[in-house]
Amino acid sequence: MSAPLDALVVERLQQVRERITRAGGGADVAVLPVTKTFGVEACWAAHRAGLTAVGENYAQEVVAKLGGAPWPFAVHFIGQLQTNKVRMLAPIVSVYETVDRPSLVRELATRVPGARVLVQVSAMGESGKGGCPLLDVPALVDTARAAGLDVLGLMTVGPTDGGPEAARPGFRATRALWERLQLAVLSMGMTDDLEVAVQEGTTQVRVGSALFGPRPPAGTLVR
Ligand SMILES: *Cc1c(COP(=O)(O)O)cnc(C)c1O
Repeated sequence: MSAPLDALVVERLQQVRERITRAGGGADVAVLPVTKTFGVEACWAAHRAGLTAVGENYAQEVVAKLGGAPWPFAVHFIGQLQTNKVRMLAPIVSVYETVDRPSLVRELATRVPGARVLVQVSAMGESGKGGCPLLDVPALVDTARAAGLDVLGLMTVGPTDGGPEAARPGFRATRALWERLQLAVLSMGMTDDLEVAVQEGTTQVRVGSALFGPRPPAGTLVR
């Protein structure tokens, strides 16, 4: 499809990989390309650059953009998830990264038996981004497992303000809990704070603007 976009994404992925390496991470740190608000050509470009999954935030956008076709890449849902959106996402999404409450566990268990999930941690008690308080995470992991969900790991989002270093305490606390729970996947770090996340032992960074450039506002491209 778009050769210039393909070449750009390959080049920028290389730069992201170099940032990961300089921060002390290896090839085992996965890069999840965040394609929200970009067209399906961004998903294809990421796929052709060798990435095997994309991250999406908005349920309506996922259905409009990715509904109705099998894709050669997996779709990770990384946005705040309303229980009434699970049904429409079920045929499309492979991993739900933002499971943060028992009601969502119950809905997933009903609509997507055995769903692969990450529990989203609110490590600093910040509001507005979703996430389960750190102290409640072990119980939510147990609840999800008892409901038959496949809990792959934990996910967290750093604070919006304060620069990359502001994310470090929350990343460190999330990593410690992840070790204690002996899970496989730790999803933390975005374009602005991926070095801190790598230093704190993430296994997956979620990167949007570093790969695709500045984002148009949500919903302007697909709706
Ligand atoms: C948008 C988003 C990202 C990617 O953000 P960038 O700063 O563009 O890398 C990662 N994770 C979540 C949860 C997001 O909403």
